[in-house]
Amino acid sequence: MLKLSNIQTFYGNIQALKGVSMEVSEGEIITLIGANGAGKTTTLMSVSGIVPPRFGEVSFMGQPIHEMSPDKIVSLGISQVPEGRHIFPYLTVMENLDMGAFLRTDRNGIKSDLDYIFALFPILAERRNQAGGTLSGGEQQMLAISRALMARPRLLLLDEPSLGLAPIIVRQIFDIISKINAEQKTTIFLVEQNANLALKVAHRGYVMENGRITLSDSAENLFSNEAVKKAYLGL
Ligand code: ATP
Repeated sequence: MLKLSNIQTFYGNIQALKGVSMEVSEGEIITLIGANGAGKTTTLMSVSGIVPPRFGEVSFMGQPIHEMSPDKIVSLGISQVPEGRHIFPYLTVMENLDMGAFLRTDRNGIKSDLDYIFALFPILAERRNQAGGTLSGGEQQMLAISRALMARPRLLLLDEPSLGLAPIIVRQIFDIISKINAEQKTTIFLVEQNANLALKVAHRGYVMENGRITLSDSAENLFSNEAVKKAYLGL
């Protein structure tokens, strides 16, 4: 579904990605783990077109997308939930969700997706008229995921959904990530520093160090890999 071929991405003179190749198949949850500053967020930004790669190719469903604008990439079915959530704080929950469906015209589909989201996150239904900025951190993460789902993506890019949240909320959010994948058949590309959690929900994983992929394997094998255990699982 998604293929990154030897991409190199820069911020001015700083090279953040030094030739990254990855593949994501339809229906999978894949995770990209790695230390602070390894280049995980930059990888997602290179896919969503926010920081396009300077060299290499990104293709989605067989079509090259690395020279497309971010809105065009969204319209093809890729939605990103950014690190730090970035919901619209002065808009209500409902208005935030409407923004997610901005490019859609199928009213019935939008209505049924909204019902699905409110069933996944009943708290958002309760708070639908409340300003996004007044929600708790966990609720804002739920809203950010829901807003992305309102675009009905085929591929959902999630950047550090666990960041700054209490363990009980993180577990809830990760359960829902698995549910969205199983029920909606949404393919998920998950960037996480919490490798323990990420490898529990993912089917496959990649490890990134210093702008390069250093390992790729099934989540199960990565979980029992001695180097991964030592560096990322605290075992
Ligand atoms: P984190 O988990 O801390 O978000 P990460 O693995 O997602 O880390 P990136 O945010 O992709 O890493 O950063 C990769 C490299 O690019 C780092 O060296 C970082 O300092 C640099 N970088 C990221 N954003 C910018 C920017 N806007 N301008 C300049 N350098 C940047």
